Parts: sequence; structure tokens; C-alpha cells
Amino acid sequence: MSGNGKESEVLPVQMGYESKFKFKCHKGIECFTKCCRGIDIMLTPYDILTMKKRLDLTSEEFLAIYTDLHLLESADLPVVTLKLLDDDRKSCPFVQDKEGCTIYEDRPSTCRYYPLGMGSLSYTTDQEAGEADDAFFFTVKEDHCLGFEEDKEWTVAEWREDQGVNIRDEINAGWTNLIVRKKSVPQSMKLSEQSKQMFFLACYNIDKFRQFIFESSFLTRHKLDDALVEEIRNDDIKLLKFGFEWLKSTFFKDGEIIKGDSVAQAPPK
Ligand code: SF4
Ligand code: SF4
Repeated sequence: MSGNGKESEVLPVQMGYESKFKFKCHKGIECFTKCCRGIDIMLTPYDILTMKKRLDLTSEEFLAIYTDLHLLESADLPVVTLKLLDDDRKSCPFVQDKEGCTIYEDRPSTCRYYPLGMGSLSYTTDQEAGEADDAFFFTVKEDHCLGFEEDKEWTVAEWREDQGVNIRDEINAGWTNLIVRKKSVPQSMKLSEQSKQMFFLACYNIDKFRQFIFESSFLTRHKLDDALVEEIRNDDIKLLKFGFEWLKSTFFKDGEIIKGDSVAQAPPK
């Protein structure tokens, strides 16, 4: 039901889309909601979009109230995680003992994938299918999770479809690619602080990113098709995907970071 627990034991068995596993999570199970405490859930750009809409907040408000900012050291890029409550159990702010997840329909991708984790070795993601060619999966087994003892069998592909992660992976593919691609360049090739701030803005603070595009000189400096301009003005998903593509073209060329990477304007504070 939820994300990577600190006490989790990651089994070293790599699984593919057709690999099978047994699992069932339901309200009647003894461990219900135990997985929603003491967890570490990295939020994707689309998670933030859906959760801030659900909570009727701006992206800036959502980030301030519900997230912690981290540096993903392997990629030297900013990422955000769900901020846990300061209670004895370090609970997720959205969990209730009896009801479970109060934002279930808009729960983050990590919660949907659980008890699976996913890895990818390159940035060759098929954005149409939302599947990475070389994606692999593994089960995350926590001592308290009794779902593996239930008698319901899934393939990884069936689980992904049932949990609605296909569509989310497709929308987030450009972000995943940026991170995997950045990890693949030598550590010595660094992005400027300004570029990292722009990554944060475009990937996580979508309302502010839209403001930046439409209220700065961005559209005079970048000649965009009129139809695209209207799309990104009105459609958050189109704006997210545009942001990923723009960051990619700004940061990388021929597999390398563009020298003095070319974010020509400071992001708004
Ligand atoms: S968002 Fe929902 S499913 Fe995820 S940890 Fe919180 S309560 Fe559990
Ligand atoms: S079965 Fe596992 S995922 Fe479901 S509530 Fe229990 S601990 Fe959480």
C-alpha cells in the first residue's frame, strides 16, 4: 500500500513484466495501514499535480506543507519526499487507522507500486507505453506486511495496470529520463545551481513554472508554436511534459551536459 520502509528487505531477485508474485492488501488484514508509517516516499511530478489538485492547493502551498526537499546525490538533482507527521509512528499525513488512505484515488506512484520496486538501467523509456525497455522490478518485503500470505497471484504487468501506474509512468517518463541520464554522466560534469533550481521549478512547482513561462521574457526568447503555447497555458500535463523536454534540450547535448548549461534566466523566487 505504501512506499519503501526503512526496515524493508529488498530481495535480490529481478523480475520482468511477466514475472509472478502473490499479494493481496485489504481493509480486513491485520497489518492494515502499518505500511503508511515510518516510510520514505519520493514524489513524482505527476504525484504532486494530482495531490495538490485533490487538496485544492497551489503547487507552492503543497510543497511547503507536505514535502521535504532532498538532493538525490547520485544524480545531483533535487527531489521531494512526502513529509511525515511528527507523531510516535511517523505517520503519513493522509493515513487513518480505520479508513486507510484518505487520498486513495490520488495516492503517489510509490504507494501504487508497493510491494514492488522498480529500477531502470538507461534512459531509453518508451514514453507511449510508459514502459522502460530495460526496466526491472523486485518485491519489497517488510516484516509487518502480511499481504504476501494471501492467495492472489499477479504478474507485474497486471499489478501495474490494476494500480494505474502505467499512465503515471508515461507522464513522468521525461522526468525519469532526466534523472537516469544525469546519473549516467560523470560526476565532474555538474549543472549550475540555477539549472538545478529550474529543474525543481519545472518538475515540482508547476504553477510557478507556468507563471515563469507566461510572465517572463521566456516566450520572446523561445519561439514556440501558437498551438503549443495554448496547450501549456491550459493543460498541466502538457506543461509538465513541455518542461521535461525543455530541461533536456537545455541541459544535454550528444550525451553530455552543455557547457555552461544554458538556462539563461534565473528562476523566480
Ligand atoms: S499516501 Fe496513502 S497509501 Fe501512501 S503512505 Fe500515505 S496513506 Fe498510505
Ligand atoms: S498488506 Fe502490506 S501493503 Fe497491505 S496494509 Fe498490510 S502492510 Fe500495508
